[in-house]
Amino acid sequence: MILQTRVGILGGGQLGKMLALSAGNWHLPIWILDEAGDFPAAPYATTFVKGDFRRYEDVYRFGQMADVITVEIEHVNTDALRQLEKEGKTVHPSPAQLELIKDKGLQKQFYAERGLPSAPFELYADEQAVKAAIDSGALPYPFVQKSRTAGYDGRGVAVISAAAEFGKLLPGPCVIEPLVDIDKELSVIVARNENGDISAFPVVSMDFNPDANLVEWLLCPAPIADSVAAEAEQLARRTIEAYGICGLLAVELFLTKSGELLINEVAPRPHNSGHHTIESCYTSQFEQHLRAVLNLPLGSTRMKTAAVMLNLLGEPGYAGPANYEGLETCLAMEGVNIHIYGKTHTKPFRKMGHVTVLGATLAEAMDKARQVKAVLRVTA
Ligand code: ADP
Repeated sequence: MILQTRVGILGGGQLGKMLALSAGNWHLPIWILDEAGDFPAAPYATTFVKGDFRRYEDVYRFGQMADVITVEIEHVNTDALRQLEKEGKTVHPSPAQLELIKDKGLQKQFYAERGLPSAPFELYADEQAVKAAIDSGALPYPFVQKSRTAGYDGRGVAVISAAAEFGKLLPGPCVIEPLVDIDKELSVIVARNENGDISAFPVVSMDFNPDANLVEWLLCPAPIADSVAAEAEQLARRTIEAYGICGLLAVELFLTKSGELLINEVAPRPHNSGHHTIESCYTSQFEQHLRAVLNLPLGSTRMKTAAVMLNLLGEPGYAGPANYEGLETCLAMEGVNIHIYGKTHTKPFRKMGHVTVLGATLAEAMDKARQVKAVLRVTA
């Protein structure tokens, strides 16, 4: 049964690549749609189809070739997916779920309606409306402004602390939230299949690089109290159930200094905070996604060993064909697993790969991860 299902993935970046590699274990045929044959996933797809996942015709034509269609990115053409769904194709996550999630305003309204905890918010039509609210005294500093639809990897988020920072305001429809007093940023990846089975991976904590606003270290299991971890996992389960999604859902959470858990946002696909599962868990997030969208039994999410993951980001000051420095030193270290995505060009803070460092304890893994970080660089 497994071998005959044709899985189509919209998007050929690193997430598509790791999905395809995982599918290889079962010799499952994978179709991938993206713009260029030198993208990370292309060499690992059974069939790579050149096209734009934002264009109706490209997605529709691509969908005809698959039995089950899924995504590695939310920003895809959902009109084409709706049509494919009407014609009997299985689409996970569904176009309706994708439309809800890719609009941060709709996401926030969803949490409010479902009684799922998230920071308070207001929606604004544009920058002028935000300025008017500040002038009238209705909007106090500091606040966080998020573009409703354009955000990806922190590019659609501005923290405004004073009038002098008006220049940072983002154009277009947005969500405004108060600045949350964050103790830790956590992530829980959950999976659900059509039978309604749900399974959660252990909670991870994410440390951000303040310059790039990208995850720098990811620790699993998160160094938090067991009661908080259990609450976070429970919240992630409630969230995927509320959405009714089949596949993975990465639930990003804030743990506030007062000990409250708030949903920041979700992603209905494999996620950066789950890369460590390839080596550290019984089942990887990529295999779990395939199991979930194919309505197979979900795999065990138990951890084999503690892990620290670091993103391999393009070194600031370098742009051009990628050059990896320090690889051999890292390959000589025990428990250091290097993943190079194969993007031809680097630029500052571009995600070029990741490294998962295993250890008997989190402290041991962290110690080795620091050594890796000191030597491994992507330059041009
Ligand atoms: P993106 O979709 O670009 O990843 P997020 O909504 O996750 O954007 O925000 C990016 C980062 O900005 C978060 O990981 C967090 O560090 C910070 N952030 C977002 N919202 C708030 C908030 N209300 N208070 C404090 N920090 C926030």
